[in-house]
Amino acid sequence: MDSEYNDEVAAVTFAYDDDSVVVIVGSGAGGGTLANELSQKGIDVVVIEAGPRFSENDIENNEWTMYDKLTWADKRVTTGSSPIAKNFGEAPTWVCKGVGGSTLHWAGMCPRFQEYEFKTLSTYGAVPGANLVDWPLSLEEISPFYDKAEEKMGVSGTHGIPRLPENNNYKVMAAGARRVGYSQIDTNNLAINTEPRDGRNACDQISFCYQGCRSGAKWSTMNSEIPKAEATGHCEVRPNCMALQIEQGSDGRVSGVLYADENGNRQLQKARIVCVAGNSIETPRLLLNSESSLSPDGLANSSGQVGKNYMRHMFGFVYAEFEQPVNYHRGAIVAGVIRDEARNDPTRGFVGGYYSAISALGLPFYAAFLDPKGWGKAYTGWVEAFDHIANIILLGEDMPLETNRVTLHTTEKDHHGLPLPSLHLDDHPNEFAMKNYSYKRSRDLYNAVGAKRVFEGPALPASHNMGTCRMAGDQSLGVVNRWGQSHDVNNLFISDGSQFTSSMAGNPTLTIVALAIRQAEYLAEQMRTNDL
Ligand SMILES: Cc1cc2nc3c(=O)[nH]c(=O)nc-3n(C[C@H](O)[C@H](O)[C@H](O)COP(=O)(O)OP(=O)(O)OC[C@H]3O[C@@H](n4cnc5c(N)ncnc54)[C@H](O)[C@@H]3O)c2cc1C
Ligand code: SF4
Repeated sequence: MDSEYNDEVAAVTFAYDDDSVVVIVGSGAGGGTLANELSQKGIDVVVIEAGPRFSENDIENNEWTMYDKLTWADKRVTTGSSPIAKNFGEAPTWVCKGVGGSTLHWAGMCPRFQEYEFKTLSTYGAVPGANLVDWPLSLEEISPFYDKAEEKMGVSGTHGIPRLPENNNYKVMAAGARRVGYSQIDTNNLAINTEPRDGRNACDQISFCYQGCRSGAKWSTMNSEIPKAEATGHCEVRPNCMALQIEQGSDGRVSGVLYADENGNRQLQKARIVCVAGNSIETPRLLLNSESSLSPDGLANSSGQVGKNYMRHMFGFVYAEFEQPVNYHRGAIVAGVIRDEARNDPTRGFVGGYYSAISALGLPFYAAFLDPKGWGKAYTGWVEAFDHIANIILLGEDMPLETNRVTLHTTEKDHHGLPLPSLHLDDHPNEFAMKNYSYKRSRDLYNAVGAKRVFEGPALPASHNMGTCRMAGDQSLGVVNRWGQSHDVNNLFISDGSQFTSSMAGNPTLTIVALAIRQAEYLAEQMRTNDL
Protein backbone atom coordinates (compact mmCIF):
# COMPACT_ATOMS: atom_id res chain seq x y z
CA MET A 1 0.00 0.00 0.00
CA ASP A 2 1.21 3.44 -0.75
CA SER A 3 0.45 5.62 2.17
CA GLU A 4 -2.53 7.72 1.26
CA TYR A 5 -0.91 10.56 3.13
CA ASN A 6 2.31 10.70 1.15
CA ASP A 7 0.67 12.41 -1.81
CA GLU A 8 -0.97 15.00 0.38
CA VAL A 9 2.04 16.50 2.10
CA ALA A 10 1.25 20.14 2.77
CA ALA A 11 4.39 22.04 1.91
CA VAL A 12 4.41 24.52 4.75
CA THR A 13 7.79 26.09 5.48
CA PHE A 14 8.84 28.30 8.33
CA ALA A 15 11.56 30.95 8.22
CA TYR A 16 14.76 30.34 10.17
CA ASP A 17 14.15 33.48 12.18
CA ASP A 18 10.54 32.60 13.03
CA ASP A 19 10.80 32.39 16.79
CA SER A 20 7.14 31.53 17.28
CA VAL A 21 7.55 27.86 16.33
CA VAL A 22 8.01 24.81 18.50
CA VAL A 23 11.13 22.96 17.34
CA ILE A 24 11.12 19.21 17.89
CA VAL A 25 14.32 17.21 17.48
CA GLY A 26 13.50 13.69 16.25
CA SER A 27 10.41 12.27 14.56
CA GLY A 28 10.04 8.89 16.29
CA ALA A 29 7.53 7.70 18.85
CA GLY A 30 7.92 10.76 21.06
CA GLY A 31 8.76 13.50 18.55
CA GLY A 32 6.42 12.35 15.77
CA THR A 33 3.48 12.02 18.14
CA LEU A 34 4.14 15.38 19.76
CA ALA A 35 4.40 17.03 16.31
CA ASN A 36 1.00 15.70 15.31
CA GLU A 37 -0.68 16.52 18.60
CA LEU A 38 0.59 20.11 18.52
CA SER A 39 -0.19 20.63 14.83
CA GLN A 40 -3.73 19.38 15.33
CA LYS A 41 -4.12 22.16 17.89
CA GLY A 42 -2.97 24.74 15.34
CA ILE A 43 0.51 25.16 16.83
CA ASP A 44 3.34 25.63 14.30
CA VAL A 45 6.04 23.00 14.52
CA VAL A 46 9.40 22.38 12.85
CA VAL A 47 10.69 18.82 13.14
CA ILE A 48 14.43 18.38 12.72
CA GLU A 49 15.20 14.78 11.83
CA ALA A 50 18.70 13.39 11.28
CA GLY A 51 17.61 10.62 8.93
CA PRO A 52 15.92 10.48 5.52
CA ARG A 53 12.22 10.29 4.72
CA PHE A 54 10.99 6.85 3.69
CA SER A 55 7.75 5.79 2.08
CA GLU A 56 6.17 2.36 2.15
CA ASN A 57 7.67 1.78 -1.31
CA ASP A 58 11.13 1.91 0.27
CA ILE A 59 10.28 -0.97 2.57
CA GLU A 60 11.53 -4.34 1.39
CA ASN A 61 10.87 -7.74 2.90
CA ASN A 62 14.56 -8.32 3.47
CA GLU A 63 16.03 -8.30 6.98
CA TRP A 64 19.54 -7.01 6.36
CA THR A 65 18.59 -4.61 3.57
CA MET A 66 16.14 -2.91 5.90
CA TYR A 67 18.53 -3.04 8.85
CA ASP A 68 21.07 -1.19 6.71
CA LYS A 69 18.51 1.32 5.47
CA LEU A 70 16.87 2.17 8.76
CA THR A 71 19.37 1.70 11.55
CA TRP A 72 21.30 4.50 13.23
CA ALA A 73 24.83 3.39 12.33
CA ASP A 74 26.91 6.33 13.59
CA LYS A 75 29.63 5.05 15.84
CA ARG A 76 29.31 5.01 19.63
CA VAL A 77 31.89 3.91 22.18
CA THR A 78 30.89 1.55 24.98
CA THR A 79 32.72 0.66 28.16
CA GLY A 80 31.71 -1.49 31.11
CA SER A 81 31.27 -5.13 32.04
CA SER A 82 27.94 -5.78 30.29
CA PRO A 83 28.07 -8.34 27.45
CA ILE A 84 26.54 -5.63 25.26
CA ALA A 85 29.65 -3.52 25.81
CA LYS A 86 31.83 -6.49 24.95
CA ASN A 87 29.88 -7.82 21.94
CA PHE A 88 28.52 -4.60 20.41
CA GLY A 89 30.85 -1.85 21.62
CA GLU A 90 30.39 0.43 18.58
CA ALA A 91 26.63 -0.18 18.35
CA PRO A 92 25.23 -0.89 21.83
CA THR A 93 21.76 0.24 20.80
CA TRP A 94 19.44 -0.72 17.97
CA VAL A 95 17.57 2.44 16.99
CA CYS A 96 16.57 4.03 13.69
CA LYS A 97 17.58 7.12 11.81
CA GLY A 98 14.78 8.33 9.58
CA VAL A 99 11.40 10.03 9.60
CA GLY A 100 9.48 7.70 11.90
CA GLY A 101 12.43 6.98 14.18
CA SER A 102 12.57 3.55 15.78
CA THR A 103 8.86 3.01 15.14
CA LEU A 104 10.11 2.01 11.67
CA HIS A 105 11.78 -1.08 13.19
CA TRP A 106 9.57 -1.68 16.19
CA ALA A 107 7.37 -4.74 16.68
CA GLY A 108 4.35 -2.98 18.15
CA MET A 109 4.03 -4.55 21.62
CA CYS A 110 2.12 -2.12 23.83
CA PRO A 111 1.87 -2.93 27.55
CA ARG A 112 0.84 -0.27 30.07
CA PHE A 113 2.85 0.49 33.18
CA GLN A 114 1.43 -1.01 36.37
CA GLU A 115 0.82 1.15 39.43
CA TYR A 116 3.85 -0.09 41.38
CA GLU A 117 6.14 0.59 38.44
CA PHE A 118 5.66 4.33 38.96
CA LYS A 119 6.72 3.89 42.58
CA THR A 120 9.78 1.70 42.46
CA LEU A 121 11.62 3.30 45.37
CA SER A 122 8.55 3.17 47.61
CA THR A 123 7.78 -0.39 46.55
CA TYR A 124 11.23 -1.98 46.45
CA GLY A 125 12.93 0.16 49.08
CA ALA A 126 16.55 1.09 48.52
CA VAL A 127 18.23 -1.45 46.24
CA PRO A 128 22.03 -1.40 46.73
CA GLY A 129 23.76 0.07 43.69
CA ALA A 130 20.52 1.30 42.12
CA ASN A 131 19.57 4.97 41.89
CA LEU A 132 15.81 4.57 42.33
CA VAL A 133 13.30 7.39 42.65
CA ASP A 134 9.53 7.37 42.26
CA TRP A 135 7.98 8.97 39.20
CA PRO A 136 6.29 12.29 39.98
CA LEU A 137 3.32 10.76 38.20
CA SER A 138 0.77 8.02 38.92
CA LEU A 139 -1.00 5.42 36.84
CA GLU A 140 -4.30 7.17 37.52
CA GLU A 141 -2.98 10.42 36.01
CA ILE A 142 -1.61 8.82 32.88
CA SER A 143 -4.48 6.37 32.28
CA PRO A 144 -6.61 8.74 30.15
CA PHE A 145 -3.56 9.28 27.96
CA TYR A 146 -2.98 5.53 27.67
CA ASP A 147 -6.56 5.34 26.37
CA LYS A 148 -5.83 8.04 23.80
CA ALA A 149 -2.55 6.41 22.78
CA GLU A 150 -4.17 2.99 22.33
CA GLU A 151 -6.98 4.50 20.23
CA LYS A 152 -4.48 6.44 18.14
CA MET A 153 -2.24 3.45 17.55
CA GLY A 154 -5.07 0.93 17.17
CA VAL A 155 -3.73 -1.40 19.84
CA SER A 156 -5.25 -4.87 19.52
CA GLY A 157 -7.02 -6.24 22.58
CA THR A 158 -7.95 -2.70 23.77
CA HIS A 159 -11.05 -0.55 23.15
CA GLY A 160 -12.86 -3.38 21.36
CA ILE A 161 -10.09 -3.86 18.78
CA PRO A 162 -9.72 -7.60 18.12
CA ARG A 163 -6.48 -9.41 18.88
CA LEU A 164 -4.37 -11.00 16.18
CA PRO A 165 -4.81 -14.73 15.38
CA GLU A 166 -2.64 -17.43 16.94
CA ASN A 167 0.42 -18.43 14.92
CA ASN A 168 2.48 -21.62 15.43
CA ASN A 169 5.14 -20.00 17.57
CA TYR A 170 2.37 -18.74 19.84
CA LYS A 171 0.66 -22.13 20.01
CA VAL A 172 3.85 -23.85 21.16
CA MET A 173 4.54 -21.19 23.80
CA ALA A 174 0.94 -21.14 25.02
CA ALA A 175 0.75 -24.94 25.36
CA GLY A 176 3.97 -25.00 27.37
CA ALA A 177 2.89 -22.02 29.44
CA ARG A 178 -0.34 -23.73 30.52
CA ARG A 179 1.57 -26.88 31.46
CA VAL A 180 3.88 -24.98 33.79
CA GLY A 181 0.97 -23.18 35.41
CA TYR A 182 0.73 -19.82 33.66
CA SER A 183 -2.72 -18.45 32.90
CA GLN A 184 -2.31 -14.92 31.52
CA ILE A 185 -1.52 -15.83 27.94
CA ASP A 186 -2.84 -14.19 24.76
CA THR A 187 -1.78 -12.88 21.38
CA ASN A 188 -0.68 -9.59 22.91
CA ASN A 189 -1.61 -5.92 22.69
CA LEU A 190 -0.06 -4.78 19.44
CA ALA A 191 -0.17 -1.53 17.49
CA ILE A 192 -0.91 -3.63 14.42
CA ASN A 193 -4.23 -3.55 12.61
CA THR A 194 -6.25 -6.74 12.88
CA GLU A 195 -8.72 -5.13 10.48
CA PRO A 196 -8.30 -2.10 8.20
CA ARG A 197 -8.29 0.99 10.39
CA ASP A 198 -7.34 4.63 10.16
CA GLY A 199 -6.34 4.40 6.49
CA ARG A 200 -3.99 1.47 7.09
CA ASN A 201 -4.33 -2.17 6.01
CA ALA A 202 -4.96 -5.22 8.15
CA CYS A 203 -1.98 -7.41 9.03
CA ASP A 204 -1.30 -10.07 6.42
CA GLN A 205 0.93 -12.14 8.71
CA ILE A 206 4.07 -12.07 6.58
CA SER A 207 6.34 -11.39 9.52
CA PHE A 208 8.47 -8.48 8.39
CA CYS A 209 7.40 -6.20 11.24
CA TYR A 210 11.02 -5.33 12.17
CA GLN A 211 11.62 -4.33 8.55
CA GLY A 212 9.04 -1.54 8.55
CA CYS A 213 5.84 -3.38 7.51
CA ARG A 214 5.30 -2.78 3.82
CA SER A 215 1.56 -3.36 4.11
CA GLY A 216 1.19 -0.46 6.57
CA ALA A 217 -0.65 -2.57 9.15
CA LYS A 218 1.85 -1.64 11.85
CA TRP A 219 1.52 1.85 13.36
CA SER A 220 4.56 4.03 12.95
CA THR A 221 4.96 7.78 13.10
CA MET A 222 6.07 7.51 9.45
CA ASN A 223 2.71 6.17 8.32
CA SER A 224 0.49 7.93 10.81
CA GLU A 225 1.53 10.88 12.97
CA ILE A 226 3.89 12.68 10.60
CA PRO A 227 1.66 12.70 7.49
CA LYS A 228 -1.29 13.71 9.64
CA ALA A 229 0.73 16.53 11.18
CA GLU A 230 1.87 17.73 7.75
CA ALA A 231 -1.68 17.65 6.44
CA THR A 232 -2.67 20.31 9.01
CA GLY A 233 -0.39 22.87 7.37
CA HIS A 234 1.22 23.53 10.75
CA CYS A 235 4.14 21.11 10.55
CA GLU A 236 7.35 21.24 8.55
CA VAL A 237 9.60 18.19 8.69
CA ARG A 238 13.25 18.69 7.75
CA PRO A 239 14.79 15.27 7.01
CA ASN A 240 18.55 14.64 6.85
CA CYS A 241 19.11 17.45 9.34
CA MET A 242 21.22 16.73 12.40
CA ALA A 243 20.69 18.94 15.45
CA LEU A 244 24.10 19.93 16.80
CA GLN A 245 23.38 22.34 19.59
CA ILE A 246 20.52 24.04 21.39
CA GLU A 247 21.07 27.76 21.82
CA GLN A 248 20.44 29.36 25.19
CA GLY A 249 19.81 33.09 25.49
CA SER A 250 21.16 35.36 28.19
CA ASP A 251 17.73 35.17 29.88
CA GLY A 252 18.34 31.45 30.39
CA ARG A 253 15.62 30.38 27.95
CA VAL A 254 16.44 28.31 24.90
CA SER A 255 16.10 30.31 21.69
CA GLY A 256 16.77 27.95 18.79
CA VAL A 257 18.46 24.85 17.42
CA LEU A 258 21.65 24.83 15.38
CA TYR A 259 21.71 21.99 12.90
CA ALA A 260 23.58 20.63 9.88
CA ASP A 261 21.18 20.53 6.92
CA GLU A 262 21.06 17.92 4.17
CA ASN A 263 23.96 19.63 2.38
CA GLY A 264 26.05 19.83 5.51
CA ASN A 265 25.46 23.57 5.90
CA ARG A 266 24.81 24.93 9.38
CA GLN A 267 21.42 26.51 9.98
CA LEU A 268 19.92 28.07 13.06
CA GLN A 269 16.18 27.62 13.52
CA LYS A 270 14.80 30.03 16.08
CA ALA A 271 12.20 28.67 18.48
CA ARG A 272 9.71 29.61 21.17
CA ILE A 273 10.02 26.15 22.69
CA VAL A 274 12.42 23.28 22.03
CA CYS A 275 11.43 19.63 22.57
CA VAL A 276 14.10 16.95 22.35
CA ALA A 277 13.14 13.44 21.26
CA GLY A 278 16.31 11.92 19.83
CA ASN A 279 16.14 8.67 21.86
CA SER A 280 18.09 8.03 25.03
CA ILE A 281 21.63 8.31 23.66
CA GLU A 282 21.29 11.28 21.31
CA THR A 283 19.02 13.29 23.61
CA PRO A 284 21.51 13.61 26.48
CA ARG A 285 24.32 13.93 23.96
CA LEU A 286 22.62 16.99 22.45
CA LEU A 287 22.15 18.54 25.90
CA LEU A 288 25.75 17.86 26.86
CA ASN A 289 26.93 19.30 23.53
CA SER A 290 24.89 22.44 24.27
CA GLU A 291 27.10 23.59 27.11
CA SER A 292 27.63 27.33 27.36
CA SER A 293 28.81 29.84 29.91
CA LEU A 294 25.29 29.73 31.38
CA SER A 295 25.27 25.93 31.45
CA PRO A 296 28.89 24.86 31.78
CA ASP A 297 28.04 21.21 32.51
CA GLY A 298 25.59 20.96 29.65
CA LEU A 299 22.11 22.31 29.13
CA ALA A 300 19.51 21.50 31.82
CA ASN A 301 22.14 19.73 33.87
CA SER A 302 22.28 21.56 37.20
CA SER A 303 21.40 18.23 38.85
CA GLY A 304 24.30 16.47 37.12
CA GLN A 305 21.78 13.80 36.09
CA VAL A 306 21.87 14.34 32.31
CA GLY A 307 23.08 11.12 30.71
CA LYS A 308 22.80 9.09 33.92
CA ASN A 309 20.44 6.25 34.85
CA TYR A 310 20.40 4.75 31.37
CA MET A 311 18.10 1.70 31.23
CA ARG A 312 17.53 -0.82 28.45
CA HIS A 313 15.67 -3.75 30.05
CA MET A 314 16.78 -7.19 31.06
CA PHE A 315 16.71 -9.02 27.72
CA GLY A 316 17.12 -12.67 26.78
CA PHE A 317 16.13 -15.14 24.07
CA VAL A 318 15.29 -18.80 24.49
CA TYR A 319 15.11 -21.11 21.47
CA ALA A 320 13.74 -24.66 21.45
CA GLU A 321 13.91 -27.30 18.74
CA PHE A 322 10.92 -29.60 18.16
CA GLU A 323 10.37 -32.88 16.33
CA GLN A 324 7.79 -31.30 14.00
CA PRO A 325 8.23 -28.06 12.03
CA VAL A 326 7.07 -24.90 13.78
CA ASN A 327 7.92 -22.35 11.08
CA TYR A 328 8.12 -19.74 13.76
CA HIS A 329 8.97 -17.02 11.29
CA ARG A 330 5.37 -16.91 9.99
CA GLY A 331 2.89 -14.49 11.54
CA ALA A 332 3.23 -11.15 13.29
CA ILE A 333 6.45 -11.51 15.18
CA VAL A 334 5.45 -10.72 18.78
CA ALA A 335 1.84 -11.90 18.60
CA GLY A 336 2.01 -13.83 21.85
CA VAL A 337 2.71 -12.95 25.47
CA ILE A 338 2.75 -14.44 28.97
CA ARG A 339 1.99 -11.84 31.62
CA ASP A 340 2.15 -13.93 34.82
CA GLU A 341 5.70 -12.91 35.74
CA ALA A 342 5.14 -9.18 35.16
CA ARG A 343 4.68 -8.43 38.86
CA ASN A 344 6.82 -7.56 41.82
CA ASP A 345 7.38 -10.69 43.89
CA PRO A 346 10.77 -10.61 45.63
CA THR A 347 10.38 -14.26 46.71
CA ARG A 348 11.64 -15.08 43.20
CA GLY A 349 14.99 -13.54 44.17
CA PHE A 350 14.67 -10.17 42.42
CA VAL A 351 12.51 -7.05 42.40
CA GLY A 352 10.36 -6.05 39.44
CA GLY A 353 8.88 -8.28 36.80
CA TYR A 354 9.25 -9.46 33.24
CA TYR A 355 7.20 -10.49 30.22
CA SER A 356 7.78 -13.49 27.98
CA ALA A 357 6.74 -12.97 24.37
CA ILE A 358 7.29 -14.76 21.12
CA SER A 359 9.71 -13.05 18.76
CA ALA A 360 10.05 -14.55 15.33
CA LEU A 361 13.04 -13.94 13.09
CA GLY A 362 13.73 -14.84 9.49
CA LEU A 363 16.69 -17.10 8.75
CA PRO A 364 19.22 -14.26 8.16
CA PHE A 365 18.50 -12.58 11.52
CA TYR A 366 18.11 -15.92 13.29
CA ALA A 367 21.55 -17.07 12.15
CA ALA A 368 23.13 -13.77 13.16
CA PHE A 369 21.40 -13.23 16.51
CA LEU A 370 21.20 -16.80 17.81
CA ASP A 371 24.79 -16.63 18.95
CA PRO A 372 26.69 -13.61 17.53
CA LYS A 373 30.05 -15.31 18.04
CA GLY A 374 28.78 -18.83 17.26
CA TRP A 375 30.86 -21.22 15.18
CA GLY A 376 31.25 -24.94 14.55
CA LYS A 377 28.92 -27.92 14.57
CA ALA A 378 26.80 -27.01 17.57
CA TYR A 379 26.02 -23.61 16.07
CA THR A 380 25.32 -24.85 12.55
CA GLY A 381 23.11 -27.61 14.00
CA TRP A 382 20.88 -24.90 15.45
CA VAL A 383 20.87 -22.97 12.17
CA GLU A 384 19.88 -26.12 10.25
CA ALA A 385 16.98 -26.65 12.65
CA PHE A 386 15.50 -23.24 11.72
CA ASP A 387 12.06 -24.40 10.61
CA HIS A 388 11.69 -26.60 13.72
CA ILE A 389 12.42 -23.76 16.16
CA ALA A 390 10.10 -21.97 18.58
CA ASN A 391 11.30 -19.02 20.60
CA ILE A 392 10.62 -16.66 23.46
CA ILE A 393 12.00 -13.20 24.10
CA LEU A 394 12.31 -12.21 27.76
CA LEU A 395 12.10 -8.59 28.75
CA GLY A 396 12.04 -7.19 32.23
CA GLU A 397 12.73 -4.21 34.39
CA ASP A 398 16.35 -3.18 34.85
CA MET A 399 17.65 -0.88 37.56
CA PRO A 400 18.72 2.73 36.97
CA LEU A 401 22.43 3.03 37.81
CA GLU A 402 24.12 6.41 38.06
CA THR A 403 27.17 4.88 36.45
CA ASN A 404 25.24 3.52 33.45
CA ARG A 405 25.52 6.77 31.63
CA VAL A 406 26.10 8.65 28.42
CA THR A 407 29.02 11.07 28.37
CA LEU A 408 30.88 12.84 25.59
CA HIS A 409 33.95 11.06 24.32
CA THR A 410 37.05 13.01 25.19
CA THR A 411 38.87 12.53 21.87
CA GLU A 412 36.74 10.86 19.17
CA LYS A 413 34.44 13.03 17.05
CA ASP A 414 31.80 12.40 14.37
CA HIS A 415 31.80 13.92 10.87
CA HIS A 416 30.11 17.05 12.22
CA GLY A 417 33.00 17.52 14.62
CA LEU A 418 30.88 16.61 17.65
CA PRO A 419 32.25 14.32 20.35
CA LEU A 420 30.95 10.76 20.01
CA PRO A 421 28.57 9.57 22.69
CA SER A 422 30.27 7.22 25.09
CA LEU A 423 28.11 4.74 26.99
CA HIS A 424 29.14 2.96 30.16
CA LEU A 425 27.16 -0.18 30.86
CA ASP A 426 27.25 -2.66 33.74
CA ASP A 427 24.53 -5.17 34.60
CA HIS A 428 23.03 -4.96 38.08
CA PRO A 429 22.82 -8.17 40.19
CA ASN A 430 19.01 -7.88 40.13
CA GLU A 431 19.19 -8.37 36.38
CA PHE A 432 21.31 -11.51 36.67
CA ALA A 433 18.84 -12.97 39.17
CA MET A 434 15.88 -12.13 36.93
CA LYS A 435 17.64 -13.51 33.88
CA ASN A 436 18.55 -16.81 35.54
CA TYR A 437 15.03 -17.27 36.83
CA SER A 438 13.36 -16.37 33.53
CA TYR A 439 15.68 -18.60 31.48
CA LYS A 440 14.91 -21.53 33.76
CA ARG A 441 11.15 -20.95 33.60
CA SER A 442 11.32 -20.78 29.78
CA ARG A 443 13.40 -23.93 29.60
CA ASP A 444 10.82 -25.72 31.81
CA LEU A 445 8.04 -24.41 29.58
CA TYR A 446 9.54 -25.82 26.39
CA ASN A 447 10.55 -29.09 28.04
CA ALA A 448 6.94 -29.48 29.19
CA VAL A 449 5.84 -29.73 25.54
CA GLY A 450 8.61 -32.07 24.44
CA ALA A 451 11.41 -29.83 23.18
CA LYS A 452 14.33 -31.85 21.78
CA ARG A 453 16.76 -29.27 23.12
CA VAL A 454 16.77 -25.69 24.38
CA PHE A 455 19.27 -22.88 23.75
CA GLU A 456 19.69 -19.71 25.81
CA GLY A 457 20.64 -16.85 23.52
CA PRO A 458 22.51 -13.70 24.53
CA ALA A 459 21.18 -10.15 24.76
CA LEU A 460 21.37 -8.00 21.63
CA PRO A 461 21.98 -4.27 21.19
CA ALA A 462 19.36 -2.41 23.18
CA SER A 463 16.18 -1.53 21.35
CA HIS A 464 14.41 -0.21 24.46
CA ASN A 465 16.36 2.83 25.58
CA MET A 466 15.23 4.79 28.62
CA GLY A 467 16.37 7.13 31.35
CA THR A 468 19.30 9.58 30.81
CA CYS A 469 17.09 12.69 31.36
CA ARG A 470 14.74 11.33 33.94
CA MET A 471 11.66 12.79 35.59
CA ALA A 472 11.88 13.51 39.29
CA GLY A 473 9.84 15.62 41.65
CA ASP A 474 13.03 16.70 43.44
CA GLN A 475 15.07 18.68 40.93
CA SER A 476 18.36 17.56 42.40
CA LEU A 477 17.48 13.96 41.44
CA GLY A 478 16.32 14.37 37.89
CA VAL A 479 16.34 16.52 34.77
CA VAL A 480 12.65 17.13 34.05
CA ASN A 481 9.41 17.58 35.96
CA ARG A 482 6.18 15.62 35.60
CA TRP A 483 5.47 17.24 32.21
CA GLY A 484 8.88 16.45 30.73
CA GLN A 485 9.81 20.12 31.23
CA SER A 486 13.39 20.92 32.20
CA HIS A 487 13.74 21.90 35.85
CA ASP A 488 16.36 24.45 34.78
CA VAL A 489 15.03 25.90 31.52
CA ASN A 490 11.29 26.27 31.36
CA ASN A 491 10.90 26.32 27.55
CA LEU A 492 12.95 23.14 27.06
CA PHE A 493 11.21 19.75 27.07
CA ILE A 494 12.27 16.13 26.84
CA SER A 495 9.71 14.22 24.81
CA ASP A 496 11.03 10.69 24.40
CA GLY A 497 11.96 7.64 26.49
CA SER A 498 14.84 9.59 28.05
CA GLN A 499 12.40 11.04 30.58
CA PHE A 500 11.60 7.59 32.07
CA THR A 501 12.30 7.29 35.79
CA SER A 502 12.06 3.50 35.85
CA SER A 503 11.94 1.03 33.00
CA MET A 504 8.97 -1.19 34.02
CA ALA A 505 8.67 -4.81 32.95
CA GLY A 506 7.33 -4.14 29.48
CA ASN A 507 8.09 -2.25 26.31
CA PRO A 508 8.23 1.53 26.53
CA THR A 509 6.63 2.97 23.41
CA LEU A 510 2.98 3.11 24.45
CA THR A 511 4.09 5.12 27.49
CA ILE A 512 6.28 7.39 25.33
CA VAL A 513 3.26 8.10 23.11
CA ALA A 514 0.92 8.63 26.09
CA LEU A 515 3.42 11.07 27.63
CA ALA A 516 3.75 12.95 24.32
CA ILE A 517 -0.02 13.37 24.07
CA ARG A 518 -0.09 14.58 27.67
CA GLN A 519 2.85 16.93 27.09
CA ALA A 520 1.15 18.43 24.02
CA GLU A 521 -1.91 19.32 26.11
CA TYR A 522 0.31 20.94 28.72
CA LEU A 523 2.31 22.87 26.12
CA ALA A 524 -0.80 24.12 24.35
CA GLU A 525 -2.30 25.37 27.61
CA GLN A 526 0.95 27.03 28.73
CA MET A 527 1.31 28.72 25.34
CA ARG A 528 -2.32 29.89 25.44
CA THR A 529 -1.83 31.51 28.83
CA ASN A 530 1.57 32.90 27.77
CA ASP A 531 3.36 31.00 30.51
CA LEU A 532 5.68 29.66 27.84
C1 LIG B 1 13.84 -3.95 16.45
C2 LIG B 1 13.06 -3.13 17.43
C3 LIG B 1 11.88 -3.63 17.97
C4 LIG B 1 11.16 -2.87 18.90
N1 LIG B 1 9.95 -3.37 19.37
C5 LIG B 1 9.25 -2.64 20.28
C6 LIG B 1 7.99 -3.10 20.76
O1 LIG B 1 7.49 -4.15 20.36
N2 LIG B 1 7.34 -2.33 21.68
C7 LIG B 1 7.86 -1.15 22.13
O2 LIG B 1 7.24 -0.51 22.99
N3 LIG B 1 9.03 -0.69 21.66
C8 LIG B 1 9.73 -1.40 20.75
N4 LIG B 1 10.91 -0.91 20.26
C9 LIG B 1 11.42 0.36 20.81
C10 LIG B 1 10.75 1.57 20.19
O3 LIG B 1 11.01 1.62 18.83
C11 LIG B 1 11.28 2.79 20.92
O4 LIG B 1 10.94 2.68 22.29
C12 LIG B 1 10.69 4.11 20.45
O5 LIG B 1 10.67 4.25 19.06
C13 LIG B 1 11.52 5.23 21.09
O6 LIG B 1 10.94 6.46 20.78
P1 LIG B 1 11.81 7.78 20.88
O7 LIG B 1 10.92 8.88 20.46
O8 LIG B 1 12.43 7.80 22.21
O9 LIG B 1 12.99 7.59 19.82
P2 LIG B 1 13.01 7.11 18.31
O10 LIG B 1 11.72 6.52 17.91
O11 LIG B 1 14.22 6.29 18.15
O12 LIG B 1 13.19 8.47 17.51
C14 LIG B 1 14.34 9.25 17.64
C15 LIG B 1 14.56 10.02 16.35
O13 LIG B 1 15.40 11.11 16.62
C16 LIG B 1 16.31 11.27 15.56
N5 LIG B 1 17.47 11.99 16.10
C17 LIG B 1 18.31 11.60 17.08
N6 LIG B 1 19.25 12.55 17.33
C18 LIG B 1 18.99 13.55 16.47
C19 LIG B 1 19.61 14.82 16.24
N7 LIG B 1 20.67 15.23 16.94
N8 LIG B 1 19.09 15.61 15.27
C20 LIG B 1 18.01 15.22 14.56
N9 LIG B 1 17.38 14.02 14.75
C21 LIG B 1 17.86 13.21 15.69
C22 LIG B 1 16.60 9.86 15.11
O14 LIG B 1 17.09 9.83 13.79
C23 LIG B 1 15.23 9.21 15.27
O15 LIG B 1 14.49 9.30 14.08
C24 LIG B 1 11.63 -1.61 19.31
C25 LIG B 1 12.80 -1.09 18.74
C26 LIG B 1 13.51 -1.83 17.79
C27 LIG B 1 14.75 -1.25 17.21
S1 SF4 C 1 3.13 -9.47 10.04
FE1 SF4 C 1 1.61 -7.82 9.96
S2 SF4 C 1 2.58 -6.12 11.06
FE2 SF4 C 1 4.19 -7.59 10.61
S3 SF4 C 1 5.06 -6.87 8.66
FE3 SF4 C 1 3.47 -8.34 8.15
S4 SF4 C 1 1.62 -7.08 7.85
FE4 SF4 C 1 3.10 -5.83 8.94
